[in-house]
Amino acid sequence: MKEKYDLIIVGSGVLGTFHAYHALRKGLSVAILEKNSKPEGATVRNFGQVVPSGMDRKWQNFGKESLNIYKDIQSQFDINLRQNGTIYVASNEEEMQLIEELHQINISNDYESNLLTKEQCLTKYNGLRADYCTGGLFFPQEVTVEPSTMIHKLHQFMTTSLGLDLFMNTTVVQTEDRNDEVVAITATGLEYKASKIIICNGSDFKILYPEIYNNSDLIVSKLQMLQTKPQKNYKLDGSILTGLTIRRYESFEECKSYQAIKEKENPDSFEKKYGIHILFKQALDGSVILGDSHEYAPAKEIDSLGFDLNMDIDHFMIEEAKKIIDLPTYEIQNRWFGMYSQCKTKDIFEYTVDQNIHIITGIGGKGMTGSAGFAKHNIDTIFNT
Ligand SMILES: Cc1cc2nc3c(=O)[nH]c(=O)nc-3n(C[C@H](O)[C@H](O)[C@H](O)COP(=O)(O)OP(=O)(O)OC[C@H]3O[C@@H](n4cnc5c(N)ncnc54)[C@H](O)[C@@H]3O)c2cc1C
Repeated sequence: MKEKYDLIIVGSGVLGTFHAYHALRKGLSVAILEKNSKPEGATVRNFGQVVPSGMDRKWQNFGKESLNIYKDIQSQFDINLRQNGTIYVASNEEEMQLIEELHQINISNDYESNLLTKEQCLTKYNGLRADYCTGGLFFPQEVTVEPSTMIHKLHQFMTTSLGLDLFMNTTVVQTEDRNDEVVAITATGLEYKASKIIICNGSDFKILYPEIYNNSDLIVSKLQMLQTKPQKNYKLDGSILTGLTIRRYESFEECKSYQAIKEKENPDSFEKKYGIHILFKQALDGSVILGDSHEYAPAKEIDSLGFDLNMDIDHFMIEEAKKIIDLPTYEIQNRWFGMYSQCKTKDIFEYTVDQNIHIITGIGGKGMTGSAGFAKHNIDTIFNT
């Protein structure tokens, strides 16, 4: 532990880690304090799809910046980044209409995307079902990471090459401003001193400043995920997003047909009730990760979401996935849920406790995509550079 850091980050998820990364790149001294022995939050439970194509304009820009940052890091240190693109597969004429409109929007945004015919999709994506696919929109610049390993590799790069001090098993229970410095006090009574503290606590609202979260519009989303056994002699490149995603992701809200198409949907359907859309991503071991669903609760009622998995959702997702891609096996090796926080009315939660203690959380479902780009700007703002 240094006598005093320029910056302490509380929370070693992707949002905290990229704040640390950009501060280190500015030559600042930085420590991350993490309560668990390794990150266990949303950052290691997700798909690892880095998909600016799905975001609204503001976050597409942060996402595009993130792509450059990830690619730059990968050129120096292997964080298992793969540039294999993102496809949105349409399953009917309405979804085709939306991907064609999104293609035009991206032309005017100067973001590369290619419309693929049904035949091109079927050739490119082994097992994609001809009776599902009507065409696709492909984003060749987009990348995937391996959530279970990426953050560890990034930490390794930052500790060995950028001078990060990373303290695991270090729960911060209090932060204090003592005039000329701020202090993070741990559950064991240790004091870490700095000029500034940024708290990136993900969806942990019980330890630090619960009253702030209880009075906010932060909500928590619980997402169910599945992972097949490794597929033998089978390759599925990149992020595969399908019809229900086209009907859900923010970028499509800009399409002129979006509202009219949404109004025709059945509000009582099972997929609507549980916020289900079907995404696929092949992991490095050949298994395919499938998901996901969304159940919501206010931050202060996070426990009401429960610790169990809803097997009706599980079953529904597998049956829907089978209608989209014929995988060699749908035998499942893992099932889990992850939680992320988001605001009802804002795109991220930012709260300044006092001028040198900041809370940044609630990045929602866009953390793997947007954190790297967002944190760069936020560090500039917080350090006034
Ligand atoms: C199932 C699922 C799929 C997703 N898929 C994608 C995807 O494909 N693409 C994408 O862009 N996004 C995706 N997301 C969203 C993304 O994972 C999140 O936005 C992101 O991981 C949030 O990162 P975070 O750092 O804010 O939170 P977290 O990863 O939860 O990290 C917060 C950290 O803070 C620590 N902490 C909290 N309080 C304290 C304390 N007092 N002291 C010390 N440490 C503390 C926690 O232990 C934790 O490690 C998905 C999310 C889920 C759940």
